[in-house]
Amino acid sequence: MITVYRAVLAATLVTAGGAAIAPTIVTRAQRDQQQPVIQRVLDETFEKYRNLKEGKNADYIPALAKVNPELFGITLVTADGKVYTAGDVGTQVSIQSISKVFTLAKVIEQDGPEKIEKTIGVDATGMRFNSIVSIEFSQKSLGGPEMNSLVNPGAIATTSMVNGSSAAEIWNSILGYYSDFAGRPLTVLDDVYQSEAATNQRNQAIGALMYAYGYIKANPAQATDIYTRQCSVGVNAKDLAMMAATLANGGKNPVTNKQVMTPDNVPYVLSVMATAGLYDDSGKWLYHTGLPAKSGVGGGIIAVAPGKFGVAVVSPPLDDAGNSVRAQKVIREIVARLHANPYEVRPRTVATTGSR
Ligand code: GLU
Repeated sequence: MITVYRAVLAATLVTAGGAAIAPTIVTRAQRDQQQPVIQRVLDETFEKYRNLKEGKNADYIPALAKVNPELFGITLVTADGKVYTAGDVGTQVSIQSISKVFTLAKVIEQDGPEKIEKTIGVDATGMRFNSIVSIEFSQKSLGGPEMNSLVNPGAIATTSMVNGSSAAEIWNSILGYYSDFAGRPLTVLDDVYQSEAATNQRNQAIGALMYAYGYIKANPAQATDIYTRQCSVGVNAKDLAMMAATLANGGKNPVTNKQVMTPDNVPYVLSVMATAGLYDDSGKWLYHTGLPAKSGVGGGIIAVAPGKFGVAVVSPPLDDAGNSVRAQKVIREIVARLHANPYEVRPRTVATTGSR
């Protein structure tokens, strides 16, 4: 059995019966010895799913239908900066909804965690990611915001909260922020942006409605346009894993060592990912992995094992909920094989002393 990350404890534990037990410490040397295990898990998982043909590219944004459905790459970056890859980790896809995580992070950094909670909300809507009905149900008169920054209405409103004196300034600060997470300068895939901007009437309507209900304070068209741009940023599996690993490492990019966000703010972002990261299947996802994650209709999924690693898979064909079929299977398997589900704990055998 693989025990890569099992039981790193700093404090002494006390059992229910009151006996003190010694913590199990995994030393750096032991961990380094176990590193090849991660590469083997990635290689084997890649091989196992390489010929999977289930799912279909998103096509409601015409440019996404043209992306090669065979594209398949896996990257895992540990919290101490080791990078493991399998498959094509260089070809870029559009980040799509995964961007919502990092704009949420930016606004939490800017305004603190309370503002988002009070204005947009941090609850699952229980509805589709682009639901208009969810906006109606989320009104204050009906009991307060039952919404979050990872579905389109909440995401467009979150983008509208980013400070800046012009659209260009806001956009540059968003793109710069994503780039710090990825550890390299990211750019927009212009064909995707043009394609989505020409066909995103529904998001424009959502922006207008969020403005009408006071979630967006001014200029909903600008907020929707910047949101569309942020969804069109090009990323590969390596970029996405690096972004996830930065969250796994308390907001510090483990390769560039830049502190991108305050460690205390990271758990707020991860909790919204756990609640609403995989659209309507977020509960199912958490049930199987225990990890905060986020998917995008471009075919990427990231998952974060706090203190351990960030993992990302890119594979465009999606299931009915809008999540990459192959990425879900692969990450589920990697998490299981590396014992990275934080809820997975083996009972300890403790030698008892005394007669209690
Ligand atoms: N840009 C896409 C949209 O707004 C993002 C959707 C997604 O990835 O979930 O429809």
